[in-house]
Amino acid sequence: MNSIEKAELLYGYDKYVPFRCSDELCAIMDELLHSNIGVGNLDLSLRDISSQQVIQLGKAFLVNRFDLHNVRIIPEQSEKNIIKLKNLNFNFAVLCRLFSKRVSPFAIPIDYKFDDYYSGGVVLYDIGEDINALKKMKLYYQKIILSRRNTIINASSYVHEIVHTQVDGKGSVLDSKNSEVLSIFMELLFLYDLDSNNFLSYIGLINRVAYMLHCYLIVKENSSLKSYEELKNNYYYSKYLVSTLKAINIFYKYINSNSLIRNEIDSSIQLVFNGQMSIDDFLSLFDINIEEGLKVVKEIHFC
Ligand SMILES: [Zn+2]
Repeated sequence: MNSIEKAELLYGYDKYVPFRCSDELCAIMDELLHSNIGVGNLDLSLRDISSQQVIQLGKAFLVNRFDLHNVRIIPEQSEKNIIKLKNLNFNFAVLCRLFSKRVSPFAIPIDYKFDDYYSGGVVLYDIGEDINALKKMKLYYQKIILSRRNTIINASSYVHEIVHTQVDGKGSVLDSKNSEVLSIFMELLFLYDLDSNNFLSYIGLINRVAYMLHCYLIVKENSSLKSYEELKNNYYYSKYLVSTLKAINIFYKYINSNSLIRNEIDSSIQLVFNGQMSIDDFLSLFDINIEEGLKVVKEIHFC
């Protein structure tokens, strides 16, 4: 089983359809590449905050808007016992269920270890490659990784990762290329909410666009798809390329809408969190797609 097949089973994605860059997409991305987007020239002056504030700010933003559901974690102290019993031929899926704990997503342990100020990630407990187990099992969280630089951007990464815990799982994302949309959108909205001058969301946006361009170059380099390596790169990086475009599309739609539309978007996101609507349906409901995303990105003035 390769890592794409494993992700399809674990997350319940549809079979992966490789991404091909259209001429229009290439033209717009190439233009953006020439404009040298990056935060290098900005005076960031990002104030240090405490790690407690990182968590509090991210949590307050999310719980004020949504009802979040609990998630399953495997406590670190249980891992040894699971392995011991598994080696005695106990059923692994049953062991994971037995030793797992249902906790608030804010109780997932956090490891502050990235050196740059904007990276983040969620680590799942590895449940191996047994097809039936993968199909049946829920996601078991081990930890969230954030930057050791505690600024407001780290809090936006925390929002991003917590949104993953509410979305990832069987049936909520059909096309894996959409799996980052809500996390990126919420991360931008969090920054926008904190700062009416838009400076913070602008930094967030530039970080995202810069990473999107990096992903675009890799997807383009890996477009022949002759080897599994190329397919894997296409799979991994097109997710950020496609999701960023759609997230920027929904972000601008949201901030330019009246409260009625905003409430509608929020309640649809709640349905996605509840597992009652797929992200794919959410996106078509609000006419969010790559073409619209490209139009929006073209209009943004990156100075
Ligand atoms: Zn993500």
